Amino acid sequence: MYAPPVQRLITELGKLPGIGQRTAQRLAFHILRADAEDAIGLADAIREVKERIGLCEVCFNLADEPRCRICQDERRDAELICVVEEPGDVIPIERTHEYRGRYHVLGGALSPIDGVDPEDLKIAELYVRVEAGGVREVVLATNPTTTGEATALHIAAALRDRAPDVAVTRLASGLPVGADLEYADEVTLGKALAGRRAL
Ligand SMILES: [Zn+2]
Repeated sequence: MYAPPVQRLITELGKLPGIGQRTAQRLAFHILRADAEDAIGLADAIREVKERIGLCEVCFNLADEPRCRICQDERRDAELICVVEEPGDVIPIERTHEYRGRYHVLGGALSPIDGVDPEDLKIAELYVRVEAGGVREVVLATNPTTTGEATALHIAAALRDRAPDVAVTRLASGLPVGADLEYADEVTLGKALAGRRAL
């Protein structure tokens, strides 16, 4: 129906989450109408993140250097590690200004039904960090969903065995159950952080 380059753009846009066929067409026509500068800017931005952004070698947050900005920041409390599912979860926690520790990004949540097992996540890397010493508390800030809760319980049990002296805490309830952390508002998330409880 469309010239092959247009069809290719629609197909690629349609692979994005939440973008159906109709929306993909609308976006493609928007791009076709846009200034060349804006359209090329979008293409370049996509290329640049894929070329320059990787994962921090310590915490697996997004980084454009071997270590992310938070791991490089000596003022951040290295004795406190906040465990989150995705790099996108770091941002809402940072926005609360309640947290001055470091992070550990798992890369997802345990979900045996979907074939996500501990070895598919950065869980072993977390144990290595904690067992290396110098950690006072691990805050489990996985999402308040079934898989997020299961992941928190799994890690808490393992840390009790591996590092009994390290406090393991979970965000206080009050976060919308079943929702992802990234959709929580700052005040609610800030309170959940401040009121975290031992697991
Ligand atoms: Zn890092």
